[in-house]
Amino acid sequence: MDTKMKRDYYEVLGVSRDVTDQELKKAYRALALKYHPDKNPDNQSEAEEKFKEITEAYSVLIDAEKRSRYDRFGHDGLRMGNGMGGYDASIFTDFSDILSDFFGFGDIFGSRRPRDKRRRGSDLRFDLEIDFKDAADGIETKIKYPRLENCDECNGTGAEKGSIAQVCPTCGGTGQMNIRQGFFAVSRPCTHCGATGEIIKNPCKACKGKGLSEQEKSLKVSIPAGIDNGMRIRMSGEGNAGEKGGPRGDLYIVVNISKHELFERDGSDIHCELPITYPQAVLGTSIAVPTLNGKANLKIPAGTQSETVFRLKSKGLPKLRGSGSGDLYVKIRVFTPNKPSAQEKKLLKQMNEQYSKSVDFEDPEYYKKLKEM
Ligand SMILES: [Zn+2]
Ligand SMILES: [Zn+2]
Repeated sequence: MDTKMKRDYYEVLGVSRDVTDQELKKAYRALALKYHPDKNPDNQSEAEEKFKEITEAYSVLIDAEKRSRYDRFGHDGLRMGNGMGGYDASIFTDFSDILSDFFGFGDIFGSRRPRDKRRRGSDLRFDLEIDFKDAADGIETKIKYPRLENCDECNGTGAEKGSIAQVCPTCGGTGQMNIRQGFFAVSRPCTHCGATGEIIKNPCKACKGKGLSEQEKSLKVSIPAGIDNGMRIRMSGEGNAGEKGGPRGDLYIVVNISKHELFERDGSDIHCELPITYPQAVLGTSIAVPTLNGKANLKIPAGTQSETVFRLKSKGLPKLRGSGSGDLYVKIRVFTPNKPSAQEKKLLKQMNEQYSKSVDFEDPEYYKKLKEM
């Protein structure tokens, strides 16, 4: 880096030469927030350069010895003595704490490390079978499932009773190791302690040092009316416990709705078939049809063809999103008896004779009518 190209550190931070440490901190904080690469997704590399520049300036001016050398000799002064060049990656390591206080995290760029080093418990899945009717009405039910809880023997510490866990000497209990990678210092999970930050010399026998044991949990679940097959309900914080007091994972309840003998479901609409007799189709009738809540009356007009579909408004399932309900679609099937009684046979034969008389195959009008049907 050509030191002649370097801007004056005071200028970089926009402060006067007699700036106090307090003012310096304030100025740096404001600029760091402004130029943090995460805050500048559109021109990240430019922001990164700026960020490096202000951080370098701050790291020098906040250090009384470096500052006085800089005041006397300028940028060249910093290359003397302890061999510090214009820029040092260690700045970022040393500044982790400051930045952590400023921004609420420890890493400078890239992967953001959560402050909470305790590991979150895993998510669980529970398959819940419910009735067609319960899916329509909604239901409160109780489920039982195995999940990891804090071990009773060691209270979740993982250490045998009477012993305590020791702070990991490699990472000093942070669970993270700082590694220099070219320009930046990055954090990696500590391999010595498995990122837990502690070493257990006498692991609890009941849980083998995990701090967790499997227990059966019973939970009240409320299934909303209108839920559809395959939908998931997320129960926040009802999954496995996290290691060493880490937060719980979530429980996902996957709903399976059993088939109905009459109704077929399509979203919030339902479909069913209704058999009627030939005379009913010809003469028309009023007929009771089954719905999810008792019976409803359906008027079949005279001359109804088989396969005709009637819609009963709002007789479907409640809509999960929005308000109101779906519809019930009733498909008519004209029923053909396969074992007619003697009396029926007699009447049908009479009817047939009547038909035959009225049908004149020579008449072109007949074919026209047939086509229309
Ligand atoms: Zn234990
Ligand atoms: Zn460690």
